[in-house]
Amino acid sequence: MANEQKGSSRPPSSPFRPRCYPSCKLFYEVSDANNIYHRVSLDKFEIVPWQKNDKVSRFLKKCRKSKNPEALYRKGVVDYFTHKHEDSALECLEEAANSGHADAAYALGIIYIFIGGDELKRKGMRLLSRMKKSRILKGKVKLCCDNLRVLLRMIWVKNPVFLNPTPICCAMTHERKTSSWPMDADDVEESTCEGCACDEEIGVICAALPYR
Ligand SMILES: [Zn+2]
Repeated sequence: MANEQKGSSRPPSSPFRPRCYPSCKLFYEVSDANNIYHRVSLDKFEIVPWQKNDKVSRFLKKCRKSKNPEALYRKGVVDYFTHKHEDSALECLEEAANSGHADAAYALGIIYIFIGGDELKRKGMRLLSRMKKSRILKGKVKLCCDNLRVLLRMIWVKNPVFLNPTPICCAMTHERKTSSWPMDADDVEESTCEGCACDEEIGVICAALPYR
């Protein structure tokens, strides 16, 4: 009996068995690879490639699987605006925004406002105004807007939420700031009304949408 016990191997899940080293090595290699896919820059890859390249597609898929924020942002925006897999597109954007990707947070704010309904619209407005008030993100809002506009010009925006009447965020009756557009970031005098500030963002994005 004692011999039998001696001879029996430990459960494979035991992290302490000496024979785990090869699999540990494999584990670290895999997690290293995930880390690389998570952090790799996608600057050299076109957001909307002219030609489908399977190798690149597989690479980008691995990046998304490893939660690369830029890869998630691109997939989220392209899919949502072109009206494909909307739920997973929003998940991609939320995941990227939660990991601190400013472009994704900005795009989400805009999308929520367009989807509308009291709750989502408020959520979108809150997101945009938080960005504008954040010491770190404040200076990035204009860049996020520019990046989104550039991306929207590359794709065919088919999602009906962007083709419907433009949402209006400011519910107050007060004199709106009428600024001429386009404006330089330095010239922009921030609206003190949160709703008006969001309406300004919406207006700038709408100007980049085709067929409006
Ligand atoms: Zn207002």
